[in-house]
Order: sequence, then structure tokens, then C-alpha cells
Amino acid sequence: MCEAGVILETLHHAADDAGLRFPLSLGGKGSATVGGLVATNAGGTQVLRHGSMRALVLGLEAVLPDGSVFDALTPLKKDNRGFDLKQLLIGSEGTLGIVTAATLKLEPAVAARSVVWAGLESIAAARELLLHCQAAEGDALEGFEVMPDHCLANVLRFLPDARAPLTGPHAWHALIELDTGATDADGLAARAEAMLTGAFEAGLIEDAAIAQNEAQAEAFWQLREMIAPAERAAGPAVQHDVSVPLASVPDFVDEAVPAVEAAFPHTRAVAFGHLGDGNVHFHVIAPPGVGGPAWQEGEGKAISRFVHDLVAKWRGSISAEHGIGQLKRDELRRLGDPVALALMGKVKAALDPLGIMNPGKLL
Ligand SMILES: Cc1cc2nc3c(=O)[nH]c(=O)nc-3n(C[C@H](O)[C@H](O)[C@H](O)COP(=O)(O)OP(=O)(O)OC[C@H]3O[C@@H](n4cnc5c(N)ncnc54)[C@H](O)[C@@H]3O)c2cc1C
Repeated sequence: MCEAGVILETLHHAADDAGLRFPLSLGGKGSATVGGLVATNAGGTQVLRHGSMRALVLGLEAVLPDGSVFDALTPLKKDNRGFDLKQLLIGSEGTLGIVTAATLKLEPAVAARSVVWAGLESIAAARELLLHCQAAEGDALEGFEVMPDHCLANVLRFLPDARAPLTGPHAWHALIELDTGATDADGLAARAEAMLTGAFEAGLIEDAAIAQNEAQAEAFWQLREMIAPAERAAGPAVQHDVSVPLASVPDFVDEAVPAVEAAFPHTRAVAFGHLGDGNVHFHVIAPPGVGGPAWQEGEGKAISRFVHDLVAKWRGSISAEHGIGQLKRDELRRLGDPVALALMGKVKAALDPLGIMNPGKLL
């Protein structure tokens, strides 16, 4: 059981001390609290294997707007006493109650990991590679991230001491992590090599490198984690956190990137992130020399509507993991299913008739 104010990084250390791990991490781990992670149903780079907070919360305690305490902290694997009310609170962004504690799912510590960087000709090839890795390694596949070449180039400009993992040019890059517990640790490197050999033979990858030690593994991951800071340093952008059905990600990206750049001349669209979750961080960089609040409020908003319309066409979500908050509230109203929106309104009115919980957020 973990109190809501615990910082994610502290939770990681506590689990580590017990020979266990909490398999969810994100850039804000030094400040994000368990309560905030639950409230936003946070995700990150390990959702592919372990799920988002919804899958990791086994029990929950919350104070409801009328002051009563909802106590469902006991972790029951089977419990069919009607609605799963804790799931209603997870991802509700503080609009239904205040999370005070959670019982969280821990996993055995990782005994060995293999981190791979692969160069690919297209995002369609990345999707095929993901399927290949899943077939070859199944449950050991911990993460599968993708980025286009110009995204990596921007990170390398931002980090002058960093090196590209591969020598040749590749249109797309995939970062893959395999993790295993103590019983399979010795064979993991050979399994990673066999997985890559199969991918080469199937023509899925152009080149690949396996991190030879922990420092190199960290260096590969740093290239992924620095995408957002590198982009911020390069100039203003509008950011979208969208998802579409897994199989549609390549077609969505191949349609959306040129469509946005054609509709908004001199912008640059960047799609990267959690391919294995169907979750693309779709950022649109302002034209050179343009920016500031006027651009964000004018063309920036028009771009967001354009991107969200495309996402709706692909039957996706305008918020894969970052939540709605205030920023996307109007877009949710514009594009959300009216039946779902009405249901959310009824739940909110039933639990919080006075509207005292996080007014103006989400709904
Ligand atoms: C650098 C960085 C990287 C990130 N990367 C990712 C990522 O990869 N994937 C991802 O999913 N998210 C990511 N996030 C977002 C992250 O999940 C959330 O910011 C974080 O989990 C929220 O925790 P917090 O304690 O900071 O909450 P806050 O930001 O303080 O609050 C977030 C929302 O939750 C509500 N809330 C907070 N605590 C409670 C509580 N106890 N009970 C009820 N409601 C509450 C707040 O009212 C607010 O609406 C990132 C954030 C940062 C800063």
C-alpha cells in the first residue's frame, strides 16, 4: 500500500530495496506523486508490457466530495460485487474525489536487460518489426519506441557529446528493450541476437546495434528521453498526445505528417513515441522565426483542430496518456461521443453535485 503523496522515484527506490520494481516510469518521476499518477492514469514507456496505472492499481482509497471515504484498498484478484468503482476514480483527473492511497502491483526486479537500436526504412517496417519481436520474445518485450531520423538528428544537436547508435542514415529508428527475471538472465543476449537476425533475414531492419553494457543501454534511452527537451530548445511547437488502433499507426502517421505540413506551410510535423501502444506524440514545430503566444493561440489552435480531426477520422483518441485537463476540454466536447460525454456528466453530477472537485477540468 502506498500513500498518495509518495513521489514515483521514491516508490522505485523502495521497491528496489525489497528486490522488486514498480513497472511504470516517466520523465516527471522526480515530481509525480502516486495520487497524480492515479488521477491521470499515467502511462510511459512500459505500458506495452505492464499496462498504464489502471492495470497497476490493485486497490484504492479516496475521499469523495461529500466527505465519505471510499475504501477499496484490499487487493482482490476476483471481486464481482458490481461496478469496479476504483476504475471510475483512476483517470478522473481529480474531478470525482481525492485519491489518498493505492495498493500497487509490483513485479520481480529485472535481472538482465538487452537494449537494441534498429534503423528502418519506414514506420510500416517498424510495425512489422514490433510484431516480429512480440512473436520472438513475447512477454520479455518491455518497450518499443520509434522516432523519425530528423527527430534523432535534433537530439544529437542538443547533446553534442552523444553519438548516433548507427552509422548509416535511416528514415526511422526503433528503440527496443527486452527484460527478464533471474531464471532466464543468462540467455537474454543470445535471444536478442537471434531476434535481430530473424528481423534482418525478413528484411525488416536495415541495421541494428545491441547495447554492450549498461552505460550504452542508458545512452540509447537518453536519446529517446531527450526528444522533448531538444525540441523545446529548438523552438515553439504544438504538442498532441494521440492514439489510433495499433494496426493503423503507420497509415495514420504517413497520412497525417504530410497533410499537416501541406495545410500549414513551413511547419514540421514530428511523430514519435510508443508504437507498441498505438500512442504517437504528434508535435508540430512552428515555422522558422514564428512563435509566441499569438502563434500558439492562432495557427497553433488551428493545427490542433486539424490533427484531432484526423485522429477522429481514424477512430482514435485525442488524449492517449496525458489527460484532458483544461487544454483539451473544448476539443473533447467538440469531438467526443455525445453518449459518452453525457454519461460522464451524469456520473460527475451524481458524485459531485456541488461541482467542488477540480471545476473546469476534464468536463
Ligand atoms: C517531464 C514529464 C514527463 C512526463 N511523461 C509522461 C509520460 O511519458 N506518460 C504519461 O502518461 N505522463 C507523463 N507525464 C505526465 C505525468 O503522468 C503527470 O504529470 C503526473 O503523473 C501527474 O502527477 P503529479 O503528482 O505531478 O500531479 P499533478 O500534475 O499535480 O496533477 C495532475 C492532475 O491530477 C490531479 N491530482 C493530483 N493528485 C491527486 C490526488 N491525490 N487525487 C485526485 N486527483 C489528484 C490534479 O488535480 C490534476 O488534475 C509527464 C510529466 C512530466 C512533468
